[in-house]
Amino acid sequence: MSKFWNKTINETTPYVAGEQPKAGEKVIKLNTNENPFPPSPAVKKVFEEFDFSTLRLYPDTNATPIVNAVAEVENVKPSQVFVGNGSDEVLALCFQTFFEKERDTELPVLTPEFSYSFYPVYEEFYGIRSKKIPLREDFRLEASDYTGVPNCGIAIANPNAPTSRAISLEDIAAICRANPDSVVLIDEAYAYFEDDFQTAVSLLPEFPNLCVVRTTSKSYSLAGLRIGYAIASEELIEGLLRARDSFNSYPVDRLAQVIGAAAVRDTEYHKKCREELIRIRNYTAAELTKLGFTMPESSANFVFAKPPKCIDAETLYKKLKAKGILVRYFKTPGINDHLRISIGTQDEMEQFVRSVKEEIENAENS
Ligand code: PMP
Repeated sequence: MSKFWNKTINETTPYVAGEQPKAGEKVIKLNTNENPFPPSPAVKKVFEEFDFSTLRLYPDTNATPIVNAVAEVENVKPSQVFVGNGSDEVLALCFQTFFEKERDTELPVLTPEFSYSFYPVYEEFYGIRSKKIPLREDFRLEASDYTGVPNCGIAIANPNAPTSRAISLEDIAAICRANPDSVVLIDEAYAYFEDDFQTAVSLLPEFPNLCVVRTTSKSYSLAGLRIGYAIASEELIEGLLRARDSFNSYPVDRLAQVIGAAAVRDTEYHKKCREELIRIRNYTAAELTKLGFTMPESSANFVFAKPPKCIDAETLYKKLKAKGILVRYFKTPGINDHLRISIGTQDEMEQFVRSVKEEIENAENS
């Protein structure tokens, strides 16, 4: 608290990102859902060929190289794509652009009770009323819980984080159809970690109120570059451009614009990494199940697993940390008995499984 901060800053509880190891510290990092594989070789080539003298000039405000790459790959018009500095920034701009402030409406934004923990921060920071919709058994999202509930907007991560569960396109369509006057934000940060993943982008011709948000951080292995984008109707994209130009006209630097475009276009490499990641995830889930863990079937690059009775999630989190293995533990009641475990390389996951096994044996024998 400070007398120099305004009321909003004094009252907001900021988002806490998963811890980053200090330089030189050797850990197995399974706590922030980064991709264990390097970015596409096409990215390296663009980096090597980049003309550094151009950095004296401001970048293209619209990040046209990425806009065009996304439009091409997703089969939409460039005017349906908005690019920002990571999807966190895009999501923040969506909350500011599409959702009404508490002072202007009684209506809340609907979000799942357990979802991306940045959503409540945006709500608090921008003064937006919020209503948390409980999840059903095993963290299942029931679409009918989002129809017939008055709201000024809806934000859903699909697949959801930290639960790892996905909903179907039919469910998303039903939610968009039932809420024609609200924007339905579908956060696809964890898109394509399923063989048959169906993106909500295919619903855009039918729903002008649908906004799909993506990132290159996870499936494109570019968390360090900070690129996120929204794909939506031209009307929604125009709103985001207005918000951006009231905040920061140059959110994406020159290097990121050309690297991001190369990554998005390398669909072959992208697919290969995803398939390998899914294989390692299935291995991890099977091994954890053998050790007595339970978890919903994951559609993401992480699993959300509940340890067996002999050891609670917080203890296991601390024991693993002491061994140099970072996973994510949330203290929030309702999910504080689970760990969110990002999928690393096969080697990393084998070491992780070995360490978990040791801890379980220790707990059983104590
Ligand atoms: N959405 C969800 C559901 C996430 O888990 C994350 C990563 N923490 C993001 C968006 C933001 O990703 P980025 O800012 O790296 O694009």
